[in-house]
Amino acid sequence: MVILGAGESGTGAAILAKKEGFDVFVSDSSAIKPNYKAMLDSHGIRWEEGQHTEEAILNADEVVKSPGIPDKAPIIRKLKAQGTPIISEIEFAGRYTDAKMICITGSNGKTTTTLLTHHILTEAGIDAGLAGNVGNSLALQVAESPHPVYVIELSSFQLDNMYQFKADIAILLNITPDHLDRYNYEMQNYVDAKFRILQNQTAHDAFIFWNDDPIIAREIQKRNPAATLYPFAETHEAGTKGYVENNQITVETTNGIFSMEEELLALTGKHNLYNSLAATIAAKIMDLKDEKIRAALRSFSGVEHRLEKVARVRGVDYINDSKATNVNSCWYALQSMRTPVVLILGGTDKGNDYSEIEDLVKEKVHSLIFLGVDNAKLHRFFDGKVPEIEDARSMEEAVTKAYRMAHKGDTVLLSPCCASFDLFKCYEDRGDQFKAYVRNL
Ligand code: ADP
Repeated sequence: MVILGAGESGTGAAILAKKEGFDVFVSDSSAIKPNYKAMLDSHGIRWEEGQHTEEAILNADEVVKSPGIPDKAPIIRKLKAQGTPIISEIEFAGRYTDAKMICITGSNGKTTTTLLTHHILTEAGIDAGLAGNVGNSLALQVAESPHPVYVIELSSFQLDNMYQFKADIAILLNITPDHLDRYNYEMQNYVDAKFRILQNQTAHDAFIFWNDDPIIAREIQKRNPAATLYPFAETHEAGTKGYVENNQITVETTNGIFSMEEELLALTGKHNLYNSLAATIAAKIMDLKDEKIRAALRSFSGVEHRLEKVARVRGVDYINDSKATNVNSCWYALQSMRTPVVLILGGTDKGNDYSEIEDLVKEKVHSLIFLGVDNAKLHRFFDGKVPEIEDARSMEEAVTKAYRMAHKGDTVLLSPCCASFDLFKCYEDRGDQFKAYVRNL
């Protein structure tokens, strides 16, 4: 068994594979973090870093690939050409557990909904593991600290290499363009990856989805899923199992009807209403007590780097939405703004179409700050549409300029629409730097 990529998922997969008696070899073309090296060493697992030794890798019976490695990587091309099966860590771990799987995917809102669902389950006394893009890898938990239930955040990259795995409860939040660079710039390829979450589901399983999403609605017609369907929507239409009516969120399942005042929800903003509906449907399917669900929806504390309030400085609010790495998540951020906005955006463009936010920018934003190595595309799109535009090459420069451009009563919003890798290590680094410079103002 060869594991490509020794991050959280690869290290977990290696430990599980070792436990199950495989001959395991781990290969990472970059440096492996010291904590993962120590874990591999303590389990007696062979590894290499900074290279891929082809003889060893091409000799594998099966390969577990980190979701970060694209299909066009030379080693993956060679493995595919010779027909070696390539699976994801979740697929591998799924073989060694009978736990109930609650799986969450979508272009935006995965982490929030995963953490909220996990919070509701734990508050209701369920021993639930948190896995996928958040928490420890599923494989590590299956190997060393198994749970009867897992809440798993699944990216399209993880879904790409899943075949036999089944979600008992699948949640699909939305599908808007993202990661098109990894899907040959073909939207349908990305849509197909997201719909792999339905694989192997039967009528005993649940499929929770946002029915107002035009792409999801179209695909449901086309695919006619085998699972029991739980559509949710903003308004109460025939067949919807979750909706908002009279300022209450309502969820209907065979386990009864749950209602709660919208204003009592801990998470605010329209997008979070959808996330709360999805998590609540899952909780009701799990037959959790209404008072536990209600208490958990009230006590959830939100997630760092997602519309996170940082500080108010001289009457200006600063909000860190560094995790807005695509245009649609920025749309929801802007949509929730109640004041004039100075918007900081930019970074590594993933094939973005900024027309989606054009109207909201014209309506709410008086100053734009482009924070990136190459801002040419942003200039081509926005120049002339907003009164003031500035470039920044570092977070310090962006925050200093924002401070200067903002007026009392404004909001400075970091919601970049782009990945962060041109100037930052990752979106967390970008958000942390933003918070640090804001707190220094
Ligand atoms: P993901 O894990 O899918 O990237 P997150 O929960 O980390 O999602 O949120 C990413 C970004 O998307 C944040 O900027 C957040 O405010 C925004 N967002 C959260 N939920 C939704 C939703 N249901 N629809 C659109 N945007 C959302």
